[in-house]
Amino acid sequence: SRAKKYGKENRVQTKFTDVAGHEEAKKELIEVVDFLKNPGKYHQIGAEIPKGVLLVGPPGTGKTLLARAIAGEADVPFFSVSASEFMEMFVGVGASRVRTLFEDARKSAPAIMFIDEIDSIGRKRGAGIGGGHDEREQTLNQILSEMDGFDKASNVIVLGATNRPDVLDPALLRPGRFDRQVTIDLPNLKEREAILKVHLRNKPLDASVNVEEIAKSTPYFSGADLKNITNEAALEAARVGKTQIDMSDFYRALDKITLGLENGSLTVS
Ligand code: ATP
Repeated sequence: SRAKKYGKENRVQTKFTDVAGHEEAKKELIEVVDFLKNPGKYHQIGAEIPKGVLLVGPPGTGKTLLARAIAGEADVPFFSVSASEFMEMFVGVGASRVRTLFEDARKSAPAIMFIDEIDSIGRKRGAGIGGGHDEREQTLNQILSEMDGFDKASNVIVLGATNRPDVLDPALLRPGRFDRQVTIDLPNLKEREAILKVHLRNKPLDASVNVEEIAKSTPYFSGADLKNITNEAALEAARVGKTQIDMSDFYRALDKITLGLENGSLTVS
């Protein structure tokens, strides 16, 4: 179907309670939820609804999760695309895909359009050999022109995610485009504990499990890493036929994941 081919449109169930920590970000983003729920309230008083919000932070910190939670809280459709997909397309295909995606979102407005890894096409223009005519630039230009073309009543809010705001083309950040930025940082100790608790909600735990202790052992871990630990611990327990996860399963999971992270960083350095 068209929805399948041109990005996923769906109703999402994700809520802010599924996102642990990021309290400051949620405070700012609740405003976006209200725009989407009651656009008329803003239009009638002459206020312009923001068109683009940039979610900035390291990988795995919950940017996609937050974007989905905004759609879930506002109960509006969620369209998403990863900008890196455009890099593999033939010239012209990216731009026409962007056009169709925005057309679909406008038809279902109010709606959220989520563009993941926006830096992959949103890098400063004119630096490459393409001389301003390559696929990447055409796709970027199409996104900019779609956002400029939104009229007051289009009620589509574009959320972009990136971990490289420094490389973005300033044209993307101009007023009326991605003119708001929300920082999504790595979790601190308390937030790591809260994230672990979200992912342990439906897992049977032995009395030996001390979530604060696990949080203390996981500095610099992202939300995605922490989710991974809870799942690895559950796998460890199930593998030997336990019906509850105990603290030794978490230590084994930690060893396994820490080793994986070290190997990972060795490969890139
Ligand atoms: P990337 O930049 O790599 O796309 P991201 O910031 O979009 O990463 P997500 O894909 O949202 O990160 O996070 C991956 C998974 O990690 C989420 O689906 C969720 O299960 C878990 N997670 C991350 N952050 C949190 C959080 N703050 N609270 C609860 N779960 C989290």
